[in-house]
Amino acid sequence: MNEAIMNQMKNDDLVLKVDNLTVSFKTPSGLVRAVRGVSFDLKRNETLCIVGESGSGKSVTGRTIMGILAGNAIIDDGHVYYKDLDLCQAKEEDFYKLRGSKIGMIFQDPLSSLNPIMKVGKQLTEALILKNKMTKAEAKERAIELMKEVGIPEPEKRYNQYPFQFSGGMRQRIVIAIALSMEPEILICDEPTTALDVTIQAQILELINKLKREKNLSIIFITHDLGVVANMADRIAVMYAGKIVEYGNSEEVFYDPRHPYTWALMESMPAMNQKGKLNAIPGTPPNMLMPPKGDAFAARNKYAMKIDFEKEPPFFKVTDTHYAA
Ligand code: ADP
Ligand code: MG
Repeated sequence: MNEAIMNQMKNDDLVLKVDNLTVSFKTPSGLVRAVRGVSFDLKRNETLCIVGESGSGKSVTGRTIMGILAGNAIIDDGHVYYKDLDLCQAKEEDFYKLRGSKIGMIFQDPLSSLNPIMKVGKQLTEALILKNKMTKAEAKERAIELMKEVGIPEPEKRYNQYPFQFSGGMRQRIVIAIALSMEPEILICDEPTTALDVTIQAQILELINKLKREKNLSIIFITHDLGVVANMADRIAVMYAGKIVEYGNSEEVFYDPRHPYTWALMESMPAMNQKGKLNAIPGTPPNMLMPPKGDAFAARNKYAMKIDFEKEPPFFKVTDTHYAA
């Protein structure tokens, strides 16, 4: 890797650096341009929230970092730096070593990460034995400890149950425990609470925040929900149509948003809207088979100027830590 980049990562205490990531998918109708030049840093022990509407490229970004893209994906350009590796160019076996160990990922549907016909205790101990070469008895002890850490009541009894015997929230706790069993440095959370009731959602968010503190995790938290962002983010990247349109500290983006898309997202938030009337963002996201010229949000932006339909807006600096297109 480029020595200058390695030094910068060390100096700024970055655990990950994503640079100009560009990913598309081959489909029968043509190339879907899912991620179009995304760049961001992840600092040690921070939560960076990636927020945006459905289809904006959040999951593809997370999956590219994790190395679990669909078979029809093409990484057209860009880098994902982790330590001295460029994950976009890493050999399959390097990625294999990282996946689930240094970098863990949890998803919206915990069932997709669990084996339905294996007791949850065994799913935990398998991960532990794989990672630590523990004996079965040691692994069981550690598994029960982990179940306690993620807030599973009566872990000794729950150890011998199957995933279907757990509620959605408890299943997500198990998935988090399995991810933690590998002692990751980075945790990518892709809408982990979207499928849960609001009260359960709040408990899982609280758990992730607690684990971040206790285990010094660096977290990429993907969500479409600004309410969740408010509870989680140290920094925020707002994504629209495969690009980051605004990037800054949590307070900067919430209290001094600069991109019209960020304004629209805020106005569509129930708690942010004093009139009690919900303003859905008018129009629909663009077709990523043919992303529009210029600013992709222009067609939905009442403040758009003629030039926005022709030329891509530059990224300008609001403060040293806050940027917007
Ligand atoms: P988000 O997570 O922000 O809702 P995604 O990252 O899942 O959005 O998707 C970004 C774009 O990539 C969407 O237009 C989606 O339809 C497309 N996409 C994702 N996966 C595939 C795939 N395997 N094949 C074709 N298109 C895909
Ligand atoms: Mg998604």
